[in-house]
Amino acid sequence: MTRLRMKCSHCGCWNRFEVDKVFVQQSSPEPKVKVLIPMYKPLKTERCEKCGKVIAEPKELIRITGAREYPSKLIRACVVL
Ligand SMILES: [Zn+2]
Repeated sequence: MTRLRMKCSHCGCWNRFEVDKVFVQQSSPEPKVKVLIPMYKPLKTERCEKCGKVIAEPKELIRITGAREYPSKLIRACVVL
């Protein structure tokens, strides 16, 4: 079980919730090489504790990255150790 910290994109409030860590295979230029990317799956639909808007859903995997090529809301999450 992993706990994730994620910023609400509506009000900016930080929320914490539990997620499952899953690995998603990504295609690679080299056929023999498997690239597995860690993603995080919310256990249930999570709502911001401040404004009540949905911030994460089980059908929507969360990818943690600091890379700038992902300017979506995915970047605004981090793992709580
Ligand atoms: Zn909010």
